[in-house]
Amino acid sequence: MAYAPPIREHLFLLKEVFDIDRYSNLPGFAEVAGGVLEQVLQAGADMAGEVLAPLNAVGDKQGCRLAGDGSVSTPDGFKSAYDAFCQGGWVGLDFPEEFGGQALPHVVNLAVNEMICGANMAFAMYPGLSHGAASAILAGGSQAQKDLYLPKMVTGEWSGTMNLTEPHCGTDLGMLRTKAVRNGDGSYAITGNKIWISAGEHDLSDNVVHLVLARIEGAPAGVKGISLFIVPKFVPREDGSVGERNSLRCTGLEAKMGIHGNATCFMAYDEARGWLIGEENSGLKAMFVMMNEARLGVGLQGLAVGEAAYQAAAEFAKDRLQGRSLTGPKNPTGPADPIIVHPDVRRMLLDSRSVLEAGRAFTLWTGLWGDLQSKAPDEATRQKAGDYMSLLTPVVKAYLTDAGFEIASSAVQVHGGSGYTEHYPASQLMRDARIAMIYEGANGVQALDLVGRKLAAHGGRAVMTFFAEIDAYVAEHEGDASLKPFTEALKGVKAQLQEATFWLMQNGLANPDNAGAASTDYLRLFGLTALSFMWCQMAEVAQAKVAEGASDRFYADKLVVGRYFLERVLPAAPTHLARLKAGSATLMELPAEAF
Ligand SMILES: Cc1cc2nc3c(=O)[nH]c(=O)nc-3n(C[C@H](O)[C@H](O)[C@H](O)COP(=O)(O)OP(=O)(O)OC[C@H]3O[C@@H](n4cnc5c(N)ncnc54)[C@H](O)[C@@H]3O)c2cc1C
Repeated sequence: MAYAPPIREHLFLLKEVFDIDRYSNLPGFAEVAGGVLEQVLQAGADMAGEVLAPLNAVGDKQGCRLAGDGSVSTPDGFKSAYDAFCQGGWVGLDFPEEFGGQALPHVVNLAVNEMICGANMAFAMYPGLSHGAASAILAGGSQAQKDLYLPKMVTGEWSGTMNLTEPHCGTDLGMLRTKAVRNGDGSYAITGNKIWISAGEHDLSDNVVHLVLARIEGAPAGVKGISLFIVPKFVPREDGSVGERNSLRCTGLEAKMGIHGNATCFMAYDEARGWLIGEENSGLKAMFVMMNEARLGVGLQGLAVGEAAYQAAAEFAKDRLQGRSLTGPKNPTGPADPIIVHPDVRRMLLDSRSVLEAGRAFTLWTGLWGDLQSKAPDEATRQKAGDYMSLLTPVVKAYLTDAGFEIASSAVQVHGGSGYTEHYPASQLMRDARIAMIYEGANGVQALDLVGRKLAAHGGRAVMTFFAEIDAYVAEHEGDASLKPFTEALKGVKAQLQEATFWLMQNGLANPDNAGAASTDYLRLFGLTALSFMWCQMAEVAQAKVAEGASDRFYADKLVVGRYFLERVLPAAPTHLARLKAGSATLMELPAEAF
């Protein structure tokens, strides 16, 4: 079955729930008012559904190929799809016009990207990494670097990468060994080996702009001595054309579980010429621009692949005939009923859908704060938006990638044995989804970031604002009887999250292992709270439409899926609270040799 980009869901959220037209005084938002949003999303859906989705299985089966000269070919069809993607202006949708972008809101870019990733995650990573690298140069580069690199990267003529990982250091970047030596002409000689560099080498673009973390000779040990460099495959001439080949190469491609269409490269730098971004020894700060953007983008991958898997499972469940409904045949003239009549199959589909719909809302809501952080006219809103971006990004990343994989696994289950074969898309989607829980900071590390850094920042200002916003929402809507189940549930889960937060404040400081042991359950409780808040807002709009007598069943269905979330997904919240309050004593008791 073909992937159907969920454009109706995006329009519902952006237009009806979050009312983005009310921001039309902000840069980029006026451009998507009055029907333009629909056109942009439709064009993105066409690109995703017609050009990229048909290449998803091709990419999985063929993978990428490394030649003896270090060049890498992408799967058949990727190059022409990439050219069409660039011509459509999709790489630079939300980049400033001065560099060739279309300056549309970040949140619109997120919506388009969900469709691109859902259609073909491995392909989406090529422009996705270029986008992240270009954002880091935009935020931290000199004017000359911006002028030289951005116009080419924003159009996709040149692509980008992020080079952090080395064989001995993944999470713990403080151990990084790649070195940088001053050449005396403003450039540096970069030497070292990086592993698992996504899109590190390929045949899609004329140049690859690597952003590389390295340690300058004599720099302090640990993360305080890391700098960020632009290390292009071809050194650009001043006029912006590609010049001499730099001394870096792809020495191998990783054999891996999924995303076969994306080249995961071993990269060797041998005194390659590189140029510093920002200040010496502040590379992680500059790279964080890229990493934060990438974390939201990876959360989106979880959502997108989960949606594709849900769609495949729902289609299969309507088609596959096995057994009879417990309450009597629903397909009496056929040999059996379609499996969608079975409550347990529906459980898997609705567990998935109720999380996907709220997860999409949560991602777009967070993305909207990303726009407000840079574009809101008043300092108070910019500050709140910055606080939220920082607080919510690890939740979006980890919660939605865990969910995406679980949903893809459920999709395999709905397919039965067929799901375990390669004749149906479920198997590929499950393999593709798995990496999103690991890269861009493994999910356990996201949870530690949330409890260790994000909660405490500015005396807990961000989480207190989040609680206050939920309280205000509940106070405003709890008189509305039709919304009561939603507001009551939100009130309940928020109280549990608040209790968990106080528990962490008291017990996490006293013993840091308590914070570490609680972190994943805390993040999941946070995710459930955020999704409940999203369900309230979606239900509010849907309820009003139903009350008006809307004939479109979209709104009535939305309320059913929302009620399902309250009845069957949200009850996990007290389990998370109980688990995190168990503390770390038993967890840490066994010595390592007992494992
Ligand atoms: C397909 C693929 C593509 C990738 N693309 C890129 C890329 O483009 N650029 C790039 O630089 N890297 C890339 N990576 C690397 C990726 O970002 C790392 O794999 C990831 O950061 C985890 O590092 P690691 O694999 O070394 O695991 P480790 O750091 O060894 O971690 C192993 C486990 O221990 C846990 N752990 C580690 N430290 C702690 C701690 N302090 N507290 C609690 N738990 C901890 C982790 O959560 C994880 O579960 C890619 C990897 C893959 C597989």
